Formats: sequence, C-alpha cells, structure tokens
Amino acid sequence: MDIKKIYEEFPQVKEMADEKEIFWLNPRLGEERELSFSIADIEDAQARLDRFSSYIMKAFPETEVTKGIIESPLTRTPGIKEYLGVKGDVYVKRDSDLAVSGSIKARGGIYEVLKFAEEVAGLKEEDDYGVLTEDRYKELFSRYKVAVGSTGNLGLSIGIISAKLGFDVTVHMSADARQWKKDLLRSKGVKVVEYPDDYQKAVAEGRKEAAKDPTCHFVDDEGSKDLFLGYSVAAKRIVKQFEENGIKCDDEHPVFVYIPCGVGGAPGGVAFGLKTLFGKNIHIFFAEPTKAPCMTLGLITGLNEKIAVSDIGLDGKTQADGLAVGRASYLVGDVMTTLLDGAYTIEDDKLFPYLAKLKDLDGLFIEPSSCASFPGPELVEKCGKYDMTNATHILWATGGSMVPEDEARAYYERGKKND
Ligand SMILES: *Cc1c(COP(=O)(O)O)cnc(C)c1O
Repeated sequence: MDIKKIYEEFPQVKEMADEKEIFWLNPRLGEERELSFSIADIEDAQARLDRFSSYIMKAFPETEVTKGIIESPLTRTPGIKEYLGVKGDVYVKRDSDLAVSGSIKARGGIYEVLKFAEEVAGLKEEDDYGVLTEDRYKELFSRYKVAVGSTGNLGLSIGIISAKLGFDVTVHMSADARQWKKDLLRSKGVKVVEYPDDYQKAVAEGRKEAAKDPTCHFVDDEGSKDLFLGYSVAAKRIVKQFEENGIKCDDEHPVFVYIPCGVGGAPGGVAFGLKTLFGKNIHIFFAEPTKAPCMTLGLITGLNEKIAVSDIGLDGKTQADGLAVGRASYLVGDVMTTLLDGAYTIEDDKLFPYLAKLKDLDGLFIEPSSCASFPGPELVEKCGKYDMTNATHILWATGGSMVPEDEARAYYERGKKND
C-alpha cells in the first residue's frame, strides 16, 4: 500500500494520521447504485422481532411495558441544544436505555441469536414463540453453541440472550474490554475468553474456533447480514416517534442523524434503514475517535476494509471502548459508500465533558463512546452545505445504562474536570 500517495490524494488522511480531528463530506452521496438489501429485508426482520415478542416478554419481564418489543425513547434535549448553540431541535435517541443489554447491540445482537433459535427450534410463523421458555427448548439449545468476538457491548448482548435461551455461548473479548462486562457475562454462565491483542484478533480467533464445529453459530461482527438487518428495524420504529414529537422530514425540514461508529454494523444498519424509509431529506453522519477512525478512513480512500488504522500509524486504542476498532466491516463500508452524508472524528478528551453536560443539563447518562456524536450538529451547521433553519438533530446515544454506578461517576467527574 502506497501510503504517501494516499496522503497526497486525500490530505485529510494525513491529518487523521496526525490524530487531528476532521470533518468529511461524502462526494459520492446519492449516486444511483444497486444495494444488496431492500425494504423487504427490513420488514422481514421487523416481523421476526414481532413474532419473538411473546418470548422476550416472558424471558425479560422488564419488557412487559413495551409488550416484548425492545425499543428506546426519543427524548428532546433543550439543554444540550443550548450548549451546542445550534439552530433547530436537538433530540437524543436513547439506545443507551435499551432493555436487556443497555446498548445499540440489543438490536442487532439479539436479533441474530433469535433468528438462529428460530431455525434450530423449527418454529413456524403462526407458532407462539413464548414456548421457547420451556425446558425442552432449553435442553435442545444446550446442544448448540453461539460464539462472538467483541470489544464489549456486542458480547453483552449476544451473551445475555444466548444464555437465557440456553445456548452454550462463548464470548471472545479483547483485553481492553471493560472488566465489569466480563464479570457480568461470567455471572450469567457465559464463557469469556480473553485475548491480549486487539479486537480484530478476538474476532479472528472466535471465527476460527467456530468454523471447526458444525453446531456452532458464529456472530460475525465484520460482515453479518443478520446483525445489520436487526439494527435497521430501528428506522421502522422511529416513524411513530417522529409523529408523536411532531418531527417532520421533508424538503423544508431536514433531519440530521449522528451515530458513533466502530466496525460499522450498528450505525450502518440504522443508517440503511433510515435512508430506505425517509430518503434524501434525512442526513446521516458517522462519528469516530481520532485514534480509531476505521470507517472514515475506508470511505475517504474508497478502500473500505482493505485499509486499517494501523496502515496510517494509529494504534486504535481509545477511551471510547465501543469504538476501538481498527478495520471497518467488509459488508458495511460498501453499503455506506453512497448513503452516508459524511463523517467526523473527535479526540478522546472531549467525550467526557459532553457526558457531564448531558447529565447536568438534560439529566441523561450515556457512556463515553456514545458521546462521539456530539460535535456533529455544530460541524454540519458550520460546513454551510445545508439550510439548517428548520433542522432536527438526532444524537444517537449508543450505550450507557449497564455501566456500573462507580464507573459512571468516574466518567462524570472526569468530564467536570476537563470542561
Ligand atoms: C458497538 C457500539 C457502537 C458502534 O457499533 P459498530 O457496529 O461497532 O459500528 C457505538 N457505540 C457503542 C456504545 C457501542 O457499543
């Protein structure tokens, strides 16, 4: 790979190599192109989650209020709007509070395991999926394995749902994953294997082990279609929340969505869903840490997963543990090529003051990774490309509610100090 030539052709990549924050607008946005997914795929995934609602409600009683549908609130945050000093309305989409696993991974991760369970159990669409809580199914599932490699939150989501169903589940984790996540999983009977190397290694090891075993389903964070489609259902569900909040999305009322990105599956699935449903008046931006901007790097250069942050001298180590990924998903980079409006990067130290501000001004707690999206509204307004008079900004808060209280307090204190 001729890195010098890449720096010449794409000066922003040189800035990224120097760990500078960048803001990038996608020149290929809106190009006509055949995609490998369609609205029918999103609707199929939504229908499957609806079928599973009777099981989810029984297995996780906290979802009784939403009748077994795992969905998060969309909350207006006037405090953060004022703090950011931008035109339009600012909302936080609180995947940080999703039931079962407290992060955006409760969408894709749970969906993929449920789909596998449906296959193994041989359920038909007209069946009552509530039967899956019965011992005979737990016994059946115990003869099958589920495995995943994860920086943390995907492991939580896959581990919790798999263990609940009764699968023999192993989570391969990078050493930099938070200790409490490993402890929590072990307490639920999940096998946790730790790797001293990075996340990519954890995934590779997990994949290798699973390949040897025909009863093992490996959740592939770098290219799973099921994960991707599980995330995309968020778009279907947000339509009603737009109506309830009087949010319009048309030529006069553009909507801007800012989502923190790691390997790309979660933000990519959500972005695909939103663009498929709302079209050209919804604008999606991905946010990444300056130390691990793998998706932005892949998109700017057009090399997608063929370039890693290590190729430009970055070690990928970041406080935003959910985003500590060195190479983008081979599935998602390609799909995003013409759907994404742009991307930007943020320094680690800036995550914490946003975390503290959101707590102080609007009373919400989210984890550091989730705060990567917060510079978005200002950056987009400043770039001058859009008329922001009637804009709605949505900051996608990707995780937080499962963070232990002492860790949450330490994050907050750090934010107050750095402010
Ligand atoms: C996983 C995760 C993301 C990003 O999802 P990817 O699929 O890795 O891009 C963002 N925020 C949090 C808190 C996460 O756990």
